[in-house]
Amino acid sequence: MAMIGIDLGTTNSLACIYRNGRAELIPNELGEYKTSSVVSLMEDGTILVGAAAKERLISHPETTAASFKVWMGTERSISLGTRSFKPEELSSLVLKQILQDVQRYLGEPVEEAIISVPAYFNDNQRCATKLAAQLAGLTVKRLINEPSAAALYHRHSTGGGDSRMMVIDFGGGTLDVSIVECFENIIEITAIAGNNRLGGNDIDHAIVTCFCEQNGLSMEELDSSARSVLYRQAEEVKIALSQPRNAPEATIVLRQGEDKYSLTLTNSLLRQLCEPVFRKVREVITRAMKDREHADKIDDVILVGGSARLTVFGDYLEELFGRRPEVCSNPDETVALGVGLCAGIKERAEELEDIVMTDVCPFSLGVATYNDNRDKNPHMAFLIQRSSMLPASHQDNFYTLSDNQQRLRFEIYQGEGYYASENLKLGELEVRVPPAPAGRQYATVTFTYDIDGILHVSARSSGGDYRDRLILNPRLQPGGMALQQAYERISQIRLAAQGTQEDQMLLETALRIHAQTIGECREQAAELIQYFERCRADGDPIRLGKARREMKKRLAVLEIYLYADPLSEEFRFDDDE
Ligand code: ADP
Ligand code: MG
Repeated sequence: MAMIGIDLGTTNSLACIYRNGRAELIPNELGEYKTSSVVSLMEDGTILVGAAAKERLISHPETTAASFKVWMGTERSISLGTRSFKPEELSSLVLKQILQDVQRYLGEPVEEAIISVPAYFNDNQRCATKLAAQLAGLTVKRLINEPSAAALYHRHSTGGGDSRMMVIDFGGGTLDVSIVECFENIIEITAIAGNNRLGGNDIDHAIVTCFCEQNGLSMEELDSSARSVLYRQAEEVKIALSQPRNAPEATIVLRQGEDKYSLTLTNSLLRQLCEPVFRKVREVITRAMKDREHADKIDDVILVGGSARLTVFGDYLEELFGRRPEVCSNPDETVALGVGLCAGIKERAEELEDIVMTDVCPFSLGVATYNDNRDKNPHMAFLIQRSSMLPASHQDNFYTLSDNQQRLRFEIYQGEGYYASENLKLGELEVRVPPAPAGRQYATVTFTYDIDGILHVSARSSGGDYRDRLILNPRLQPGGMALQQAYERISQIRLAAQGTQEDQMLLETALRIHAQTIGECREQAAELIQYFERCRADGDPIRLGKARREMKKRLAVLEIYLYADPLSEEFRFDDDE
């Protein structure tokens, strides 16, 4: 049975397998390596995942969700029409789709996976990721940090002597910065810093905000479809500005009834809009370097993630480091390839046998402690400091504060704040102690941070009482009722039938253009929708094949005229085809 590696991204997800001596990306049904991490609920109750679902952000914004990875590990519910989902349930649907595509491609069942997570993911977020995999019917053999996977692949594919590198993974919704030391076959991650709410999405948001300001529009007053149209264009112009062969400017256009609004973006305006985002990137880089002595001696800066392709980002880092960082050849595939390699190592592929990779924990972990029994604002007693090498284990004794105290209660926190209340509470644990004067009885608390970056806590009291816990959020508790119920709920959901992705994609694109336009463009889109649906209903494979080619051609034309000015000379349809 094959084991696969999955990069479960905020924006895009990819699957990879290690075979025939190399990490090989697995294409989805559309023949693409990247599957958009977008989920849409269809009118017939089935679920659409990927590029076709992404089209529905504009035509069906109320029943479509994107970027839900940023909510992983929280209690937030995301509604798709009348149904509501937890972030890990939506992620499990993305995983289900990937699994379906992989099994079709490989022609064999897959039950095991290694999944990458942002290095800066906390305990809840990691547990939610594992849960998402379980809901999709996958056993997670390991969680690996995304920049570590990228470093592994980069080092493996380029070789080279001893070096210290900084890996910056800048995707759609997260930023991770790692410092990696390489010598011979050993890859040692020595420091991690990050921000789980920072990425290309924020740049799109800055562009849309600027658009609204310049045009005197208020974002809240736009309907969700108009907002989706703006975000889609913001992303398109942002990407266009980084293509060397493109014009040095690109324009966003929004039509609202008779009114037309626009904003022309250049790289210099984009840079200005990115400044607040880049300042936050800089904070993270500084934090990673401070955690490691001699971090000033960085030999290479390696950029991965889709946002690494931004010219203005390269410019910014060049100013920061005094030289231009290296962008990995396919920055949005590097993590997935690294996770694939990791699967190869896990399956003990001979040629990977001597690679050793070590990782560190991104946060400090500890319990709340009180100075005396009147203390109302407990501070942290850290058991594991951030940047400790994984797996890490540490224990400490905690004594009673009152005479005849019956219990010792431990609140477990993750974070760097002095006061416990500033940090993220992971849960609590309580042990009984025999009656005695204050300060006599105690409990030994042990923290073990496993290789997946998940915490196990146990406490044993001097009276012999023993308790242990993996995590404490009942919804994420393995084997719990909540999990069983979630599993049943997800099992009942059907994904769009196999083999229909391409047709679905063509139809959804036409529907999106229809929703996005008025007038002639809209009429053309409507005609295409009717024509294509008729051909699909007919079921004649030759006619359908021809219809697909026709759709592609016509949609490409509509796409070009989509943002063009209807009054300008160039806006003219060729209707005779
Ligand atoms: P994630 O890891 O979050 O799933 P990716 O690494 O695939 O995401 O990066 C997605 C982000 O990269 C998006 O915000 C997208 O707009 C941005 N992006 C993709 N290609 C480019 C490009 N050529 N230039 C600038 N930004 C890009
Ligand atoms: Mg990524």
